[in-house]
Amino acid sequence: MKIAFFVSEAIPYAKTGGLADVGGALPHALAKSGADVKVFLPLYREVRQKGIPLLKKADRVTFAWRGQPETFALWESLEGGASVYFIDKPALYDRDGLYGTPAGDFPDNGPRFAFFSRAALEALRTLEFAPDVLHVHDWQAAIALAYLKTELADDPFFRGMRTLATIHNLAYQGLFEKGVLEEIGLPESLYGLDGLEYFGKVNFLKAGILYATALSTVSQRYSLEIQTPEFGCGLDGLLRRRSESLAGILNGVDYASWDPSSDRDIPASYAPGRLQGKAVCKQALLGEFGLPAEGKDLPLIGMVTRLAGQKGLDLVVDALGSLFTLGVRLVILGTGEAAIHQALEKARRRFPSFFGLKIAFDEKLARRIYAGSDLFLIPSRYEPCGLTQMYSLKYGTIPVVRATGGLDDSIEEFDPVKGSGNGFKFGDYALSALIAAVKRAGRVYERPEGWANIRANAMACDFSWARAAQEYALLYADLARR
Ligand code: ADP
Repeated sequence: MKIAFFVSEAIPYAKTGGLADVGGALPHALAKSGADVKVFLPLYREVRQKGIPLLKKADRVTFAWRGQPETFALWESLEGGASVYFIDKPALYDRDGLYGTPAGDFPDNGPRFAFFSRAALEALRTLEFAPDVLHVHDWQAAIALAYLKTELADDPFFRGMRTLATIHNLAYQGLFEKGVLEEIGLPESLYGLDGLEYFGKVNFLKAGILYATALSTVSQRYSLEIQTPEFGCGLDGLLRRRSESLAGILNGVDYASWDPSSDRDIPASYAPGRLQGKAVCKQALLGEFGLPAEGKDLPLIGMVTRLAGQKGLDLVVDALGSLFTLGVRLVILGTGEAAIHQALEKARRRFPSFFGLKIAFDEKLARRIYAGSDLFLIPSRYEPCGLTQMYSLKYGTIPVVRATGGLDDSIEEFDPVKGSGNGFKFGDYALSALIAAVKRAGRVYERPEGWANIRANAMACDFSWARAAQEYALLYADLARR
């Protein structure tokens, strides 16, 4: 089975969030199970700066872009793992940031990712790689399907190619002014209700939803949620129409990289039944955030998150006073919206010996937080899949989550009587519900036997990519037969 992945981020090359974990790990897992996978990414400055060895496959790939000859260079990664190729167009991708700067998104993101998508299609031809399934991820790559639908519709190289569009987060749709169609060489005729039009704008993700042979999203629960007005972001009607072709496949975790027994970025290693190292990690984390060492016996809550409305930080800010009265401590690592930074900074000044905050994107510190915390808080308004709860589980750090999307699918409320469950869940997006869940966690934390029980359950959870890759392989096979 030949699979092409068009994706805008992938570890270890470029990352802003969970999409990169998927873009890096899923192709690798598929390749291990025998698929022939090629991944296509823009050649961002970040990739060059990492010094990853690259091999130039083609100096000038030429194709018609807006009716004129355009070129890009094509590189292949020599990093090992899945085969990864880069679309090199410095004017578009050689910048600080993938999608923008702290001041906001790049104004030309429409043309940037349309060019990437169209060029990646051309790269398939250059590599003489006609995949059985072209798998596009999110709006940045979904727009590729608009080219297959229009200018490439009669091109024998692409004829009959099956496509899968995965929605990692429906709230990000790639919305641009109407004029973008001309800028990216797509016909005006696509601007219509049954085309890419969306409330007076052009919607790139809609190309995926309308034209893909099949659709998927990253958990069962989210696949149902996005068909409702509450979570459908204006596209629920369209998604209901494609309900039969919409699958929900929970993401996985790469345990070769995320495992406290082999993680070299945490102060001490540990494993189920050998947990002394975890206490060392906690003590070090308290010290790193300047929190008093006396807190070592109190539950320490960690958060690693984009600072975005989705992630429920308004609820956290409101909850701080009550949480600290309960005797817990909190550390947050995050980057994102300035207003959320400011609210958190203000709270940190108010509660300096209870609350540690680091505004940064820091993968190593993220690992130290997964390892050093007792509880991991994810109060999202919605969460398509969520990976941080899966990392926490492996690190023996118990998730306290809002029951939405993949959080609901992966976390089961702990039952102290039966000894079953791997975390604590709350349903309402409300302060009282969050506090009640933390209180339940606190009661279990106070009983060493109960705590050992839930921690063992958590660390035994298996969300490895092998399962998800198998589900994707079945879906690809089904598509290829259609
Ligand atoms: P999303 O994709 O919505 O951001 P996920 O839970 O799917 O949420 O994935 C988040 C990923 O990004 C995880 O790998 C998490 O560790 C990482 N991450 C988020 N914020 C930071 C940060 N500030 N520093 C380091 N890693 C981060």
